[in-house]
Amino acid sequence: MFYNQEMDALSKLNDLSDQMSFEADGEPRVSSPPPTCFSPKEKNHAITHPAQLPNGQKIVLLKTLLSSACERDCFYCPFRAGRDFRRATFKPDEFAGLFSKMSQGGLAEGVFLSSGIAGGGVRTQDKLLDTAEILRKKHQYRGYLHLKIMPGAEKGQVYRAMQLADRVSVNLEAPSTERLAKLAPHKIFIEELLQPLKWVEEIRRTVPAFKFWNGRYPSTVTQFVAGGSDESDLELLSITNWLNKNVSLRRAYFSAFHPIRDTPLENKTAVDPMREHRLYQASFLLRDYGFDLEDLPFTDLSNLPLHADPKQAWAEINLLHKPLEINNAGKRDLIRIPGIGLKGADAILSARRISKLQDLSSLKKLGILAERAAPYLLLDGRKAALQLALF
Ligand code: SF4
Repeated sequence: MFYNQEMDALSKLNDLSDQMSFEADGEPRVSSPPPTCFSPKEKNHAITHPAQLPNGQKIVLLKTLLSSACERDCFYCPFRAGRDFRRATFKPDEFAGLFSKMSQGGLAEGVFLSSGIAGGGVRTQDKLLDTAEILRKKHQYRGYLHLKIMPGAEKGQVYRAMQLADRVSVNLEAPSTERLAKLAPHKIFIEELLQPLKWVEEIRRTVPAFKFWNGRYPSTVTQFVAGGSDESDLELLSITNWLNKNVSLRRAYFSAFHPIRDTPLENKTAVDPMREHRLYQASFLLRDYGFDLEDLPFTDLSNLPLHADPKQAWAEINLLHKPLEINNAGKRDLIRIPGIGLKGADAILSARRISKLQDLSSLKKLGILAERAAPYLLLDGRKAALQLALF
């Protein structure tokens, strides 16, 4: 399927996608955090990765850069200007042709495309957009496309990206202007990074969905370097909560800081990957489970304890001595019980229309983590924890 010229392009793609392995897409599972970002991964030359789309569909995703050349000098970044490594650049039609072949050959079902910045954010964004347009129009590619919005991109470019992509993203990297200055002194938090996210929302509210790819608005995500700017979890979750509510953020990705050799932060201590995991858990509680920031168990330093699941920590304080009756509680309360998720709560509501739930084994049959939930609930007036011996 691939000939000489294409073999060169494949080798370039191998370099670029390997370097891109720090970027997150798909649905990270709280039980297994995604790969640590910014960690200098061993080269494994796997240029595609399994990913789960927001609709649950599992696909093989190619994550790559259009170019690893960058004129900026972010302190944490392996692509920063002046760092010595082999750089590569695709032309838009070259990449689109190559990916189209991969897609037709069944080697990739989706693509996440980003780039280092060369000639400014606007010029770089144009190249990403040209690539996406060639893919969609010339090669009739209809699969999943995640496009990165470059720092400094213009509103018209954001709109064009939304017309071509299933997902668009802007990496905020840090929770505020002050924190970003510690990571990326030449990125402007409000104007270059936050503003494009606001434009996406503004465009969603003013332009009908049929004008976008497949007649749907693309989802929006962002990414933070957790611990890179000595920020607290409260700072990260406060901005995440704000983004959820104000720009319809689909997901925040958290990547525990890991030092990269030959960067200004090479001697900074790596952040425990468990912090990433706790941030995901807390962000899901804020987004999907009706939790407020005040419900989360922050320490005196405004961080989440690494040893405690935040939902369980809340339940220990609020439910242990005041368990919820599983046969009466509404969905909003049910999902606050550890071991009961959104689907589990729906299953409980359906099952109890038929008969009362009286033991933990009936919860288990509904997919509930019954042992986990037991200390915090009552089953027909009886403390469920007492039934554990029956398992
Ligand atoms: S602009 Fe992006 S690619 Fe360039 S140094 Fe900063 S984070 Fe890295």
